[in-house]
Amino acid sequence: MDRELLERQMAELPIVQYEFFETSELIFSSRVRYVCETECPQYGKSWACPPGVGGVEACQERCQRYPHALLITSMTEVSDISDIQETLSTRGPHEELTRQVNSLIRRQSVETYVLSTESCAVCETCAYPQEPCRHPERMFPCVESHGILITETAERYGIEFQAGGNIVTWFSLILYQ
Ligand code: SF4
Repeated sequence: MDRELLERQMAELPIVQYEFFETSELIFSSRVRYVCETECPQYGKSWACPPGVGGVEACQERCQRYPHALLITSMTEVSDISDIQETLSTRGPHEELTRQVNSLIRRQSVETYVLSTESCAVCETCAYPQEPCRHPERMFPCVESHGILITETAERYGIEFQAGGNIVTWFSLILYQ
């Protein structure tokens, strides 16, 4: 992949920080999956979330087919970060940003596997579990659904994930080969 070209293109986008690294550096843990299972209302409601995405080992194996990784973040200010509805409503632009970066990479004939934020919201009602995903090419499972401890990777590379105040930080991970 022509990384310099991609970096020039990404400079035109509202990305706050990004980092390239190797997928082998990601930390996978079933503890993350436990949080999904016990704390997330989307658990068992979408193909983009567990258990629809498969077990942590299967997710890890899928990710490792793509040896290189690009982490991108964007930030949004909300009036009250404890208001989950308001916070989630700001997620759309980050998803669009993720699609744009993914398209730029794929335009270079590079294969990607994309993980993004929260549960998929492409369809009004998810087909899970009765029917297969309607738009697998547009569906980005959330990073945590794969058991990835993304904050550890972010800390290692000095990526800000707690800006404080009412600033929401959104993460996406684009794996590629
Ligand atoms: S694209 Fe539709 S069917 Fe597929 S995971 Fe998203 S909401 Fe569900």
